[in-house]
Amino acid sequence: METCNRHYYATRDPLGTQGDFTTAPEISQMFGELVGAALGDCWTRAGAPQAAIYVELGPGRGTLAADAVRAMRSTGFAGEVHLVETSPVLRKAQERSVPDARWHDWIADLPPKPMLLVANEFLDALPIRQHIEGAERKIVIAEGGLAFDCDGKIVESSPARDEAVRRISAHIVTHGGAALLIDYGHERSEAGDTLQAVHGHRFAPVLDRPGEQDLTAHVDFEAIGRVARKAGALATRVVAQGQWLRVLGIDARTAALSSANPGRAADLEAARDRLTGVDQMGELFKAMAIHAPSWPIPAGLA
Ligand code: SAH
Repeated sequence: METCNRHYYATRDPLGTQGDFTTAPEISQMFGELVGAALGDCWTRAGAPQAAIYVELGPGRGTLAADAVRAMRSTGFAGEVHLVETSPVLRKAQERSVPDARWHDWIADLPPKPMLLVANEFLDALPIRQHIEGAERKIVIAEGGLAFDCDGKIVESSPARDEAVRRISAHIVTHGGAALLIDYGHERSEAGDTLQAVHGHRFAPVLDRPGEQDLTAHVDFEAIGRVARKAGALATRVVAQGQWLRVLGIDARTAALSSANPGRAADLEAARDRLTGVDQMGELFKAMAIHAPSWPIPAGLA
């Protein structure tokens, strides 16, 4: 999964109608603006530390970073922008959206400063492991392609995600800050096979076209909270994306943008519904925050 996704992201921009999938910040500027408002508010309530930086993990085209930082600037935040991205193709796209950013390969390379971090659909792209009755499920070369070596009741884990969350938490505990993690997944750890492949906006068999389709798995938010707390950080409750965006004011933002531009009202409402609808992204996608014990809980997650 790791090797496939590294090749996949390094060789294309997978986002948008021409690509394989569309993410929340690509649906509407309102998503990034509300994330930025939540981070700006958290920063203000933390006493507006001047050294604080904006950090994003896996920023895609840089759309969320551009929208969020614009909203944060209006709260007085003047900090640097740091992006963690391994794909050279996507770094190029990010340079166009956020020209003054600095780039890093991994979380451990971030400067020792308080941070306001966001990761949208980042953790789901990190590799998972699957176990059946305690034995790791493996992929073997079979006649005609790749195959799993066994089937049964699957339990997933993700040492790579745990490591990312440990790094985020350790940074926040030492230097201060808060992290918003937004992804599709479940609130409680549960058994089940959640590995999926998407190609051209459709689900595809996971072992088809290795490295040429997007591989993700559901994020186990309970496991993330456990890892964060063990590292000395605080983890908030998990809130469905639709409910969270409503509390942050997506309806008011839709109305404000619509009255400024009545010709776009129908599109704005459609985007709002896509981001919040229970049968769309509103329920499956969830938000959770990790924060330093001395930092406030980001809005909507208390
Ligand atoms: N957050 C963006 C894009 C999500 S796609 C959005 O919401 O639109 C996943 C992103 O994570 C891509 O930018 C991909 O290149 C990046 N990524 C995946 N694995 C990574 C890793 N191990 N290290 C750094 N970035 C990674």
